[in-house]
Amino acid sequence: MAVVDTIAAIATAPGSGGIGVVRISGPASAQIAAAVLGHCPPPRHAAYLPFKEADGQLIDSGIAIFYAGPHSYTGEDVLELQAHGGPALMQLLLLRCLQLGARQAEPGEFTRRAFLNDKLDLAQAEAVADVINAATAEAARSAVRSLSGEFSRYIQDLLESLINLRMYVEACLDFPEEDIDFISQGRVAEKLQNIADALELVFKGARQGNLLREGIQVVLVGQPNVGKSSLMNQLAGEEVAIVTPIAGTTRDTIKNVVQIEGVPLHLIDTAGLRETEDEVEKQGIARTWRALENANAALLLVDAAHGITETEKSILERLPANLPKIWVHNKIDLHSEQPRQREHEGELHLYISAKLGLGLDALKAHLLKIAGWQPAGESIFMARTRHLQALQMVQGHLQNAAVYLEQPELLAEELRLAQHVLSSITGEFTPDDLLGEIFSRFCIGK
Ligand code: GDP
Ligand code: ZN
Repeated sequence: MAVVDTIAAIATAPGSGGIGVVRISGPASAQIAAAVLGHCPPPRHAAYLPFKEADGQLIDSGIAIFYAGPHSYTGEDVLELQAHGGPALMQLLLLRCLQLGARQAEPGEFTRRAFLNDKLDLAQAEAVADVINAATAEAARSAVRSLSGEFSRYIQDLLESLINLRMYVEACLDFPEEDIDFISQGRVAEKLQNIADALELVFKGARQGNLLREGIQVVLVGQPNVGKSSLMNQLAGEEVAIVTPIAGTTRDTIKNVVQIEGVPLHLIDTAGLRETEDEVEKQGIARTWRALENANAALLLVDAAHGITETEKSILERLPANLPKIWVHNKIDLHSEQPRQREHEGELHLYISAKLGLGLDALKAHLLKIAGWQPAGESIFMARTRHLQALQMVQGHLQNAAVYLEQPELLAEELRLAQHVLSSITGEFTPDDLLGEIFSRFCIGK
């Protein structure tokens, strides 16, 4: 095994807070504790101690907790120093640890070490970041379910069935004369079907979880004053609109997140899509157009009194043709109309009042339906697109396997591939570059 060094990072969010935590992991943790605190506290005891510079000067006094490996988050010796959460103070404390031989941790490096030391599997490690970045309470709950290993357990169960079946089929290959009999005696077709059914259930739960993670992307098209802001505020309702940027879209200012039944709804306002010479604005606009390519639906907001104008038409022309569109006729209260919906030439028209909140239930229901959300009785797991793709590939291999019931070599090969892809979810065979990509998206200190 490679020699491991000791890493350190500020584990709490940037900015000031009541408490800030510096976390250290690796073989030098105990030595660093001794140098900063005067002695290394007994494992898993909260000790209130002075944190000191090399010359004895006080940095702060706070709580130190030492965890002796393997009984720690990373599986290594870990030290956590809780001090007052001021950015300057945190830097001083981190610097002290770096002077004592620790190296600044890379994003996700603590969790990566936890994964490499078998404290959690890859799906759980990914769930750590998803818990932190969850945009709604529902998303946080499903991420915690995945973190606690529920999703992984389903994957493990599937793997077990698959491995049992593989062992049987491979054993049949040793008796080439009779193998087809063996296959039918072993009721391989039936077992394959059972695995495919179980896989389908997991896929459904994971797809819903993925929706909680990625949210519904909705493009809002409409003239100034047609009621876009009012609609967003109404959709946000009593809930505080979550304006915290989602990882990866930090500089995206034209995106607003509200939620419907716990599903994050990303509203992309095309009001920002105008001609401009400003470089920063240009980049923002390019980002918005890219977001449009992944959108689930477009809301075309018009004034119920005026209907559709040239401006809406010109934006409409540039939207992807297969993007589901809903015409939303707003301000019906001005004409004492009741909310209603109708279909015209295959397009849906909703009549609402953003101001009074009329007709919004229908709007929300249609958006959820377009996105494929099913308020699930079955469990929902936070899952990433990577997991969904893997599950789909496994489905494909199982379908192929079912075709090869009379060609045991090919059958065995499809089962082998299915197992290989399935175990990539929990990280048994995961190439280093994929690991690198997964963990680099974490925040520092996690
Ligand atoms: P935006 O420019 O598209 O974001 O439009 P705003 O949401 O800022 O709304 C423009 C004006 O229309 C404001 O004075 C709103 O109060 C008003 N408004 C928006 N929706 C409605 C509605 O459903 N009924 C009525 N009567 N007024 C509305
Ligand atoms: Zn507005």
